[in-house]
Amino acid sequence: MSDADRPSVYGMLPAEVDTLVLEAGGERYRADQLLRAVYRDGIRGFEEARQLPAGLRERLAELATVTPAREVRRVVSEDGLTTKLLLAMTDGTLIETVLMQYPAEGGRHPRSTVCVSTQAGCAMGCVFCATGQMGFERNLRAAEIVAQVVTVAGLLRDRGEHVTNVVFMGMGEPLANYAETIRAVRILTDPRAFGLGQRHITISTVGVVRGIDRLAGEGLQVGLAISLHAPNDALRRRLVPTAGPHSVSELMAAARRYFVRTGRRVTFEYALIAGVNDSETTARELARLVRGTGAHVNLIPVNPTAGGFARPARRQVLAFERVLREAGVNCTVRVEKGTEISAACGQLRTDAAAPVVIGEAEARGPASGRGPGARPAGPSRAPSRSR
Ligand code: SAH
Ligand code: SF4
Repeated sequence: MSDADRPSVYGMLPAEVDTLVLEAGGERYRADQLLRAVYRDGIRGFEEARQLPAGLRERLAELATVTPAREVRRVVSEDGLTTKLLLAMTDGTLIETVLMQYPAEGGRHPRSTVCVSTQAGCAMGCVFCATGQMGFERNLRAAEIVAQVVTVAGLLRDRGEHVTNVVFMGMGEPLANYAETIRAVRILTDPRAFGLGQRHITISTVGVVRGIDRLAGEGLQVGLAISLHAPNDALRRRLVPTAGPHSVSELMAAARRYFVRTGRRVTFEYALIAGVNDSETTARELARLVRGTGAHVNLIPVNPTAGGFARPARRQVLAFERVLREAGVNCTVRVEKGTEISAACGQLRTDAAAPVVIGEAEARGPASGRGPGARPAGPSRAPSRSR
């Protein structure tokens, strides 16, 4: 069997790993050992799972694979808190994954959040989003979504740190790749696998209503963010061309259903674009829409991409926020991370001509990301690579 024909353990639920191990002739407890080797020790092939007898390792390798992502490029922001990885999947497909670190603050624990991609490219074509501008390449498999988190976990493990949160806010529309996204969530949150708390996961959607309703019925406690960007249909359709079939009021109703079924408050993301959706009149319209729903509004001053949209002036952002706050709407302005390395919201794309990146870590082979020397010597500086 070639590599491509064998299933990856990253894409398997623990019960499926049990079956795999039994099929390979191992006892049930060997599955637990294998899962620990994969998710706690970060093995990159069955041969590295030294806890398992050699014969079992060989049989496992005949039936399945471990498919670590290959790190092609690593760029670190000047403050060292944002790391963007360009990763190659086993077939060579390129995607981007971002690590955002938040130091302990105001009684909050420090966080290391991984922003994962669910598709290579995106078919939704939002006019301000670099991923949307590159078009759709293909859906990622659950194993490929999990591999992104495992890669970042390996990078953190070298520093004695670990992944605390995962947000599905990288390239692609998670609910347009529903089955693989949910499978990845289940693997990432299963205590026998990656073991992250469900509440430490957020899925961001452009507003696929059917997907939101399905997600509400999964019995999961994951957070939901809906990319709203406009309080009315005319404006929203200009920004999100594929919003067509779903009106703003349908989205609001879906958000409400999600809250009722899961008890989790929904966040509305709102990319603020100068002269397009940032007026105080628009803020009042948004306030009327969201007031009383208990939802949270996250304002994201738009990040530069090829679309030519500009970020509003700081005072305009604050004025917009004030209108919402005064109307009693729970609201924050997203602290932008990684804009200078094009790792911020909406800046991920992999079809750009190879950018000149200063101080990047060298492209590394399969053994990358582990051991000393895997990180660039210091925070590297990188010019913008948004087009
Ligand atoms: N497809 C999903 C998740 C990925 S995009 C979605 O659209 O929600 C993650 C977030 O980045 C979304 O809220 C999206 O609207 C936002 N975004 C896209 N381009 C942006 C840009 N140029 N500036 C700021 N936010 C942007
Ligand atoms: Fe796709 Fe989200 Fe970008 Fe829209 S904002 S094009 S849905 S990734």
